Amino acid sequence: MAIQDLDGLLAGGRAAGRRVFVRADLNVPLARGRPSDDTRIRASLPTLRKLLSGGARVVVASHLGRPKGEPRRDLTLRPVAARMAELLGTAVGFSEHTVGPAAEQRVAELENGQILLLENLRFHPGETANDADFAQALAALCDVYVNDAFGTAHRAHASTAGIAAVVPEVAAGDLLQAELRHLAVVRDPARPLLCLLGGAKVSDKLAVLEALAPHADVLAIGGAMAYTFLAAKGEPTGSSRVEADRVEDARRVLAAVERAERRLLLPTDHLVAEALEVGAPTRIVKEIPPGWMGLDIGPETAAAYAQEARTARTIFWNGPMGVFEIDDFAHGTETVALGVAESPGTSVVGGGDSLAAVNKLDLGSRIDHLSTGGGASLEFVQGLELPGVTALDR
Ligand code: ADP
Ligand code: MG
Repeated sequence: MAIQDLDGLLAGGRAAGRRVFVRADLNVPLARGRPSDDTRIRASLPTLRKLLSGGARVVVASHLGRPKGEPRRDLTLRPVAARMAELLGTAVGFSEHTVGPAAEQRVAELENGQILLLENLRFHPGETANDADFAQALAALCDVYVNDAFGTAHRAHASTAGIAAVVPEVAAGDLLQAELRHLAVVRDPARPLLCLLGGAKVSDKLAVLEALAPHADVLAIGGAMAYTFLAAKGEPTGSSRVEADRVEDARRVLAAVERAERRLLLPTDHLVAEALEVGAPTRIVKEIPPGWMGLDIGPETAAAYAQEARTARTIFWNGPMGVFEIDDFAHGTETVALGVAESPGTSVVGGGDSLAAVNKLDLGSRIDHLSTGGGASLEFVQGLELPGVTALDR
């Protein structure tokens, strides 16, 4: 693949005076009209700073929430522009119009090293439809296109795919580059590669499991999805969350792993309760009794997975090992997270809840890469092409 990076774009002052459209991920949570978590705004700054100091005229665009193709006052990006200005320490213009003559006028007023944020891309139905006219309207705002929104790179939208096909020059931003660099390590890993998969639903992650099964040296499964696998092996699961219509699929994954002579680890003990409730009495069991549900991997399993993490040379982790939001059910996730943090190997953690778990434990700085794009990272490590990345390949 030949994807230009920012250094290429900025070389020899080439970006000075040019209108650079940056597709960023500014999809932040809002509370009372202000960003309640500005992590994504902060993450977008390195690319923006580089372009601004290179003298570019920067036009930033993003989606926010799911307005379904219509303007919604509660989903305006205006408060994001205000927060971005505070963080950048410079004025950030805001265009109420995403495209069209008014937006073009605002862009035309930019001077070198100035920045403008456009209104929510998804106020227009053409964005998610990857409509050619909407992509053209976005392209009319710029000379160069930069994609820095990894989290939406697995979607072929007007601002991630359509625009890239019609703008003369394209490049990947620093955030996107970093994601691709780290996730490429999982695609082509130093071995052994340990994949830790957990979370709520097998159905969400079945395709990933199937793709990773022959690729990973060790596949360690926790979270609710473990019980569908235990059911596939004919083990008792009590009233744990089992996806009955996926048991057959789980059996297929088990068979694929066996054929590939890889190791698939399932919990050998469980923390169970009779209800998913704060304060519910819990027990540690090897076999789940009728009427009890698994809410976390047990201490023996957690220690075994953590030990795998300490000896792995590459780790990819997606999905918590239990209902970590409740402290009583967070021990398994905590023990495994510590093992991942202590591993000398390269560690990549992805997924919204997985990142929340790692951050709650304050272990973020000891993980090599925290992937911002859950869905996109899962598709990429499976070896799938991401439309937003392919569109940058010239
Ligand atoms: P991510 O966002 O990291 O991709 P998921 O969304 O797939 O992760 O799964 C996270 C959710 O899975 C959490 O809300 C957690 O409470 C839930 N979960 C984990 N283990 C269990 C379990 N044993 N029973 C029910 N829910 C579980
Ligand atoms: Mg989630």
